Amino acid sequence: MTRATLDVLYHLHKSGFQACLVGGGVRDLMLGHTPKDFDVATNATPDEIKQLFRRCRLIGRRFRLAHVHINHELIEVATFRAGQTAILQPSTEGMLLRDNVYGSLEEDALRRDFSINALYYNIADFSLIDYADGMHDLQAGIVRLIGDPSLRYQEDPVRMIRAIRFATKLGFSLAPATEAPLSTHGHLLSAVPAARLTDEILKLFMFGYAWDTFNLLQQYDLYTPLFPLTAECAQENHPGAAVLIEQGLRNTDQRVQQGLPITPAFLFAILLWEPVRQRSHQLCTQGIARYPALHQAATEIFIQQSKTVSLPKRFSTMTRDIWSLQASFLATKGRRPKRLITHPRFRAAYDFMLLRTQAGEVDADLASWWTDYQTK
Ligand code: ATP
Ligand code: MG
Repeated sequence: MTRATLDVLYHLHKSGFQACLVGGGVRDLMLGHTPKDFDVATNATPDEIKQLFRRCRLIGRRFRLAHVHINHELIEVATFRAGQTAILQPSTEGMLLRDNVYGSLEEDALRRDFSINALYYNIADFSLIDYADGMHDLQAGIVRLIGDPSLRYQEDPVRMIRAIRFATKLGFSLAPATEAPLSTHGHLLSAVPAARLTDEILKLFMFGYAWDTFNLLQQYDLYTPLFPLTAECAQENHPGAAVLIEQGLRNTDQRVQQGLPITPAFLFAILLWEPVRQRSHQLCTQGIARYPALHQAATEIFIQQSKTVSLPKRFSTMTRDIWSLQASFLATKGRRPKRLITHPRFRAAYDFMLLRTQAGEVDADLASWWTDYQTK
C-alpha cells in the first residue's frame, strides 16, 4: 500500500470514522499482485471527507466521490453506499432520494459486484472484513457474483463484461450460477450507454488478455451485441478476416507483456477492418476511387459501431490513418515510399499491413520489400 493511501486511512480513522481499503486493491494485494490503484471506503460523508483533507475534490453527480490528492497521488474515497434498490424508494418528503444512498459497511459490501471485490482491510485493527465470503473464493480461484446473478446482471449489464475480465485477468473460473446467465443476457448490453461500455471494453482488451477475452465473449454470445458489424462478417466464414483478428489480438497481448505501448486506435483498426474493407470494396465497384471509398466506408462503420461501443474521436483519427495508408504501400516507385516512411502513422500502418499479409490480403513480396526498405 502506498504512503498516501495509509495517510488517508489513518487520518479518517483518527478523526473518528471507519476507514477501509477495498476493492481491487485488497484483492490484488491478497493475491500477491501489484494493485493498479487503491480505493478507500468510509462512513464519512463526502462533505466530511472534504473538511478533513486539504486537497480534496468532490466529483460525480450520481455517486459523489472524493478525490484526495496527496503528493502526486490520487486516492479515491467513497462513502459506504446501500444497494441500488434503495434508490427507488421515495424519501419522507415524497421526493425520490438522490442516488447517494449511504449505508453501512455491510450494505456497501453486498452492493459490490463480485465476492473477491468485496473484501475490506480495516485500518482500525488491521483486520479483513469479509461479508461476501470473498476470501474463500479468492483462495479457490472463483469469480462469484454477489446475490442473485440474473438480477445483478439486469441491474447493471456491464457486470457481465467485468465477470469475463476478472476471470481472464486472474486466471479464475466463473462460479456456475455466475456463468449461466451470460449466454442469455447479452441483449441487455444494448441498454448501456456506449461511452460506459467503451471504458470497460478497453480495460478488457488492453491489459494483455485480448485474445482470451475475445474467445470468451464469443463463447457467451456477448461479442455480437458489442461488435455487431464484425460479428456479422465473421459469420461469412472468411478465413483471412479471422486470421487478422487472431494474429492482431495475439500481437497486442505480446506487446503488453513486453511492456511496449499499445493504443485503442490499433485495436479498433483490427476489430473493424473487415466491415470497412468490405464496404469500401462495395463502394469501389460503384465507381468511387479507392481513397474516398475507404474514408466513406470508415465513416459509415464508425457511425454504426458507435451505437454499441464507441471509439473516442482522439483515437478514431488514427484508426482512419492506419486504414487509409494501406493503399500507399502499393507504391514502391519514385519518391512516394520515402514520403510514406516519414508519416507519423507509418509504423502502425506498417504493422497493420503485416497483419494483412498474414491474412493473405497483401502479397508477401510486397511486405518484404517494405521491411527491407526501412532497414536500408
Ligand atoms: P481493477 O484492478 O481492474 O481496477 P477493481 O476491482 O478495482 O479492478 P474498479 O472498476 O476499479 O475495479 O472498481 C472498484 C470496485 O468497485 C470493485 O472492486 C467493486 O467492488 C466495485 N464495482 C465496480 N464496478 C461495479 C459494478 N458495476 N457493480 C458493483 N460494484 C462495482
Ligand atoms: Mg480499481
